[in-house]
Amino acid sequence: MKLDVDVLRYLTKEDFRVLTAVEMGMRNHEIVPAELVERIAALKHGGTYKVMKNLLKHKLLHHDASKYDGFRLTYLGYDFLAIKTLVNRGVFSAVGRQLGVGKESDIFEVATEDGTVMAMKLHRLGRTSFRAVKSKRDYLKHRSSFNWLYLSRLAALREFSFMKALEEHGFPVPNAVDCNRHCVIMSLVPGYPLVQVKQLENPETVFNTIIGLVVRLAEHGLIHCDFNEFNIMIDDDEKVTMIDFPQMVSVSHRNAQMYFDRDVECVFKFFSKRFNMSFHECTADIDGTAVDTDDSGRPSFTSIAKDTGFLDKELSASGFTRKDQEEIAKFIEGGIKKDANSDDEDTEDDEHISVLNEANTMGVDSLHVADQTLQHDEQVEPEGNVRTCEAGPSSEPENEDGSNEEGDNETVNNDNDAELEKRLNKVRRRAVTAARGGRKTFASRNTYKDKGGKSSNSSKIQRQLSSW
Ligand code: ADP
Ligand code: MG
Repeated sequence: MKLDVDVLRYLTKEDFRVLTAVEMGMRNHEIVPAELVERIAALKHGGTYKVMKNLLKHKLLHHDASKYDGFRLTYLGYDFLAIKTLVNRGVFSAVGRQLGVGKESDIFEVATEDGTVMAMKLHRLGRTSFRAVKSKRDYLKHRSSFNWLYLSRLAALREFSFMKALEEHGFPVPNAVDCNRHCVIMSLVPGYPLVQVKQLENPETVFNTIIGLVVRLAEHGLIHCDFNEFNIMIDDDEKVTMIDFPQMVSVSHRNAQMYFDRDVECVFKFFSKRFNMSFHECTADIDGTAVDTDDSGRPSFTSIAKDTGFLDKELSASGFTRKDQEEIAKFIEGGIKKDANSDDEDTEDDEHISVLNEANTMGVDSLHVADQTLQHDEQVEPEGNVRTCEAGPSSEPENEDGSNEEGDNETVNNDNDAELEKRLNKVRRRAVTAARGGRKTFASRNTYKDKGGKSSNSSKIQRQLSSW
């Protein structure tokens, strides 16, 4: 995205007053009514209208008249608010060239008065598909007003907090300088992303360092979750720096092992392809200490001694509340909802809800959903109808056994067969009814929960927005 900071120079105090008014209005409005902007900005002689026209011209605001005459901030408008705040704080005084375009971010050079150059990362959630959660976004698109600016702000704060904590624990990460809204200022990392590197002098050393980092992160209770050649920077001396942390999870996450193995696998695959490495001779080591590996040389997650309190401790230390964490994990990381001491039931329910909604909105074969529903019902309601279901299979072998034993008496056998058939049919009918009834119950339970979830989520967001 183009960031024309020249415009910034020509913006007046009134322009910022109106931009800020829209931002404030967005605490509880997706689209802020024009009169509300006017009331908050409280410019003399009705000057707000003229200012808004100017802000629209520069694409700092977006006009939406679909429901009522209203406005919302664009990412550019949000960028300008963050940049202005950081410049006023004296963090930097100039914005330079674009350094990189991430999956959901833009990275620019910024410089201080004395010429120190740093990196500015502007989070842009919702711009492209974010990791493996496109479906959830589709789901969200159909469901509720959803504030990407707010989530980008949470992502930035989360990344900033991790960066600071990791730096304090001696990890090779950029120096976290400051953070405002969706913007993180950090030191400039020399070198290039590993993906651009075609040759290394010491690929084994670099490989061991990188795998060692994955292990050391786990020892500190963390999994990067996006640990790959795009997020590892390497300089001319082959020194490694890791970047890009907003999606990290705790080692106590229910899918921790999978995320850990996936991070490890990414590194193994890349080094094998790019540098033709075979791994039997490489041992992951941290500060010279060998790490337990499996037969293929991959470090074993289970044998790592992990400090599970790290994530919570560090995040709350930097003002990131547990609720913030839940919100962002739930909506952005595709159900990575809770970390340590998590209660999986809710997460599972949410996943069911989202499966149902995705099916509804994306036209997925409902059979698949029904199957899941049935299984769920059987677990949730073990009594009544479902007990009848259980009687079905158990009565079948019983009668089959009987048939075999009484094979010499055809009449009895036939009678038994007919009787058996009748009983089985009855059982099947009941099972089907149970399933249908259960499905209805489940669907309606979900619909209910769904509504509750939606409104409670949005009110959660509203509540949090008001603390901006
Ligand atoms: P995303 O989360 O969108 O993937 P990243 O943090 O991975 O964003 O950054 C995208 C790209 O920007 C990186 O691949 C890298 O080239 C560049 N970059 C990010 N941070 C820095 C930094 N501190 N110094 C230099 N370049 C950086
Ligand atoms: Mg990245």
